[in-house]
Amino acid sequence: MATNIRICQGNQIGGCVTIITYTGNGGTIRLMVDYGRSLPGSEVTEDFKYDWKNEPVDGVLFTHYHGDHIGRFTEIPAETKLYMGTAARKVMINIQTALSRSENPDVSKPAAKALSILNDDLRIVEVIENEPIIFHVSGINGGKATCSSVTVTGYSVDHSAYDAYMYLIETPDKRILHTGDFRGHGYRGKAFIPTIETHVRQFGKREIDVLITEGTMMNRNTEKVITEYDLRMKATEYFKEHRYVFLICSSTNLDSLASFYHAAASPYGMRMYTYSEYVCQQLKTFTETAGKRANLYQFEHVYPLNLEKELPHRTWNRPVKQKELMREHGFLAVIKPEDFCEKYIDEFLDLKPVIIYSMWDGYLDSSHKAYKAHWDSFLKRQEAKGVAVKHLHTSGHADKGMLARIIEAVNPKEAIYPMHTEHAAGFYELDIRDTLKNKIQISVDHR
Ligand SMILES: [Zn+2]
Repeated sequence: MATNIRICQGNQIGGCVTIITYTGNGGTIRLMVDYGRSLPGSEVTEDFKYDWKNEPVDGVLFTHYHGDHIGRFTEIPAETKLYMGTAARKVMINIQTALSRSENPDVSKPAAKALSILNDDLRIVEVIENEPIIFHVSGINGGKATCSSVTVTGYSVDHSAYDAYMYLIETPDKRILHTGDFRGHGYRGKAFIPTIETHVRQFGKREIDVLITEGTMMNRNTEKVITEYDLRMKATEYFKEHRYVFLICSSTNLDSLASFYHAAASPYGMRMYTYSEYVCQQLKTFTETAGKRANLYQFEHVYPLNLEKELPHRTWNRPVKQKELMREHGFLAVIKPEDFCEKYIDEFLDLKPVIIYSMWDGYLDSSHKAYKAHWDSFLKRQEAKGVAVKHLHTSGHADKGMLARIIEAVNPKEAIYPMHTEHAAGFYELDIRDTLKNKIQISVDHR
């Protein structure tokens, strides 16, 4: 009877895959956590080949919908079930629906395939928070029929993706907690340690053997992490002086979109516009899911950008163009740093519009592997026209203080495996007890 843990591509940020195999009682249960793409600029850009045939997997548990965690799901054999959150599934469907409408068949074809999988209720199993999922294996051992099981429980975590999970995986001989990506400084971050204490550890009654945790921020020393709440306050302050605002922010970063939306809507009455119908659809999904739990996540007035569109209204004596309304009331317009969005900025140059860049600054750093030259040149071009670019962003990942707190709270008996990190050795520098430091095992990149 044994449980084996393999972490593939754990020493990079993105594309990490964990395989947990339990063998015993005449059978094997194998689970995989995440199957995503390596991020551009990673050391290993070619994704590893998993041997699905010889090492079949009973289920793939997705922690969240970021491409570096879920991006390769269409490559998984049809007999393997895929586990993900209900809202995460909807967000994925929105992404693939938009891509399937592309005129480029290289984009639309794979998206159509992805959609058929995502819409297949026999293939997708929706994870419900705190509800155990049981995997059974039966076999023959010493001439006797045997049965054993592995239990998986998903717990909601705070991340820059909504509906993200950490998983507790309990085999007959090991209890493993896999954090996925997480942080403590978003709107739902305060719940993290209490979730560990009450649900995962059951007030100390349940012990965890192995903790597998992300360590993205280990080599991002210079990044000062602000809370989502601080981000909203800073935006509110900024909008006092600026009412014509373009926003560059991920369409699936619910917390930050909510921060900016509310900072603009109240007290300034600035409406939100987006570069495409697709973003409106994501916000609608967030309103229908997260919005049911908290007003913060309700996006009531969001419109796709269509500057010349004439809008009738019963109190106006003539239809008014969208761009006229934007001039009158101010706006918060979500754009992409790409050429097709330049026309929106040019339209309002006389009003001294500004751009808020709310994504990771590494994308604009030419010395970084993940540098996006076309984003950088887009922003520089706008600055040359007199458009100020303000950087206002908070990370989706736990800072070192939070990592130390989670390790102490989980207090694993046997081992700590850092993953999703370019600097696993940094875990030795964390403010944790020496007994825990001794349990750190730097993951080897098994391929
Ligand atoms: Zn992520």
